[in-house]
Amino acid sequence: MAHSYMNQILHINLSKGSFHHLEPPAWMRENYLGGKGWGAKMLLDIVPENADPLGPENALIFLTGPLTATPAPAMRACVVTKSPLTNTFLDSYFGGYFGPEIKYAGYDAIVFTGKSPDPVFLQIDHNGPSLVPAKDIWGQDAIKSNKSIKSRLGDENFKIATIGPAGENKVPFALICCETNRQAGRGGAGAVMGSKNLKAIALKGDKLVGIHDQKKFNLALSKANKEIQDSLECQGLMATGTAGSVEFANETGLIPFRNFSDGTSPLAAKLGDKGQSQKLWLSRSACFGCPIACSQMGAVRTGRYASFVTDIVEYETAAMLGTNLDIGDPRAVAHLNRLCDELGIDTISAGACISFAFEAAVKGLLKSTDDLKLEFGNAKAAADLIEMIAHKKGPLGKLLSQGVKKAAQELGYEAEPLAMHIKGMEMPAWGPRGIPGMGLAYMTADRGACHQRGFPAGYEATGMEWKGKPVKALELEGKAELVFSLQNYLAGTDCLVKCDFGAMGVTPETYALLLNAATGSNIQASFFDELGERIWNITRIFNLREGMDINDERLPRRFVDEPLPSGPHKGHRITEDDMKYLLKDYYQIRGWDEKGRPTLETLEKTGIRLDDKFRL
Ligand code: SF4
Repeated sequence: MAHSYMNQILHINLSKGSFHHLEPPAWMRENYLGGKGWGAKMLLDIVPENADPLGPENALIFLTGPLTATPAPAMRACVVTKSPLTNTFLDSYFGGYFGPEIKYAGYDAIVFTGKSPDPVFLQIDHNGPSLVPAKDIWGQDAIKSNKSIKSRLGDENFKIATIGPAGENKVPFALICCETNRQAGRGGAGAVMGSKNLKAIALKGDKLVGIHDQKKFNLALSKANKEIQDSLECQGLMATGTAGSVEFANETGLIPFRNFSDGTSPLAAKLGDKGQSQKLWLSRSACFGCPIACSQMGAVRTGRYASFVTDIVEYETAAMLGTNLDIGDPRAVAHLNRLCDELGIDTISAGACISFAFEAAVKGLLKSTDDLKLEFGNAKAAADLIEMIAHKKGPLGKLLSQGVKKAAQELGYEAEPLAMHIKGMEMPAWGPRGIPGMGLAYMTADRGACHQRGFPAGYEATGMEWKGKPVKALELEGKAELVFSLQNYLAGTDCLVKCDFGAMGVTPETYALLLNAATGSNIQASFFDELGERIWNITRIFNLREGMDINDERLPRRFVDEPLPSGPHKGHRITEDDMKYLLKDYYQIRGWDEKGRPTLETLEKTGIRLDDKFRL
């Protein structure tokens, strides 16, 4: 009977150059659905304990979900691995057109293990999979290598994921560039790909994705599209993309300014949607099958960075490479963004590393040179640092290319308060002072500092209702339950694999209708919460097994010691007692012991059967 799974996983052992096709066991579909769920369980089962993230034993897993490549709106794909930045579970999501092509090539997931003796790329087309020598493109940037491979294959229709020099050099926050403008950005999946000598994956599929009940699917699809059109949040994204969040984050005191030393910036208006549209925007663009089209293509036509076309700068990048560095010219920020994309570095971590260096120079912990003035507002220095990080060039490039946690440890204790990270992952662009629920979401996110594993800031900063009551920003009570609930739902729907922005419109009930119609399942909306809770325990087991230190489940010292200097939450910080209260409450709600370990009852209650093992 038709359904939207391809029912096939491809395993490539790069050390042996071998290919192996396997059928996913039925319990994988039933208990883990796809995307994040499959990735979490596969990683736990196939990566040996304490494996070096950059060693051949680590796995790099590209995953789709049961709705990827169907007409369901705003669906994506993801990559799961053990992160070289945090040494924990990592899931990183990407939109565009590469994800659907995995299914058109015939697979639900592609798993890489081992290490190729020489640089290669994976090619899959109607002849099946093959490994192709890639010595000639090793060293090329992520965007150029996409073009080189298409030209070599003589076919523009291949969908390609590549790494840039940062991935080749194993910078632990190197990204994977999917086609030329969608990135699996956070946590260093690009470095894992580089460590395997895998330069790229080029896919051109001809398989069809089935739908179990087309009539029901069409009805659910109309409902989903209407929900998106009616949603105020989605309407906002259609109008401005995430650049519209720059001024919101500034007004609410959440935007990073000068390495998070403040939560407001005089530059916000220049970097928001209005500021960017005056300098950059040309037209909207969308991922596969997405009616929101939150992206905008932009051209830099004037000034020293003139003459390139790029995606306009989305919120995280505008903040981390803009206000956070005190750089207010959107053309300069677009240039830095483009450099990161070409060299293959996560813009959030890059922004945090550069602001760390600028502040370390202010404090006398790093020194400027005649050629490199480490000072806030210096876009040229920021560009130079991005190059140095990607190529691990010179002592400063080597220092920063490790990420802020290790860089601070190397510089000494005076540098540690400047290192804005949790569990080794650099902070994204939403300061949590005045919104403690967001602080808790950061502390407990399964891949380190991440705003996408639960975003209570959306409630706390606006007073939006949750369970029929407006959420009060400063209150601690109830925040653990809010975070628990948001994390579970997002993890559950990350198995589909949905885009978070689509989920601002599409309701859980409609996702359930789409899934049932596509696969023949018979689930209710609450399924996603239950599934998410199960997965949250699986990633926890993995992280604890890999030595995650519970004492690292805390906010950077700046948010604890320094009250916010301006904005509506001026004077607020998240104290040690606040953190203790929030974590204690959270562990209890999760059914974890005081050391944050899932109890046996919790594993049983959440339906985790450790005897079910995924094997390659
Ligand atoms: S909302 Fe934006 S990021 Fe999400 S799928 Fe649509 S175009 Fe892609």
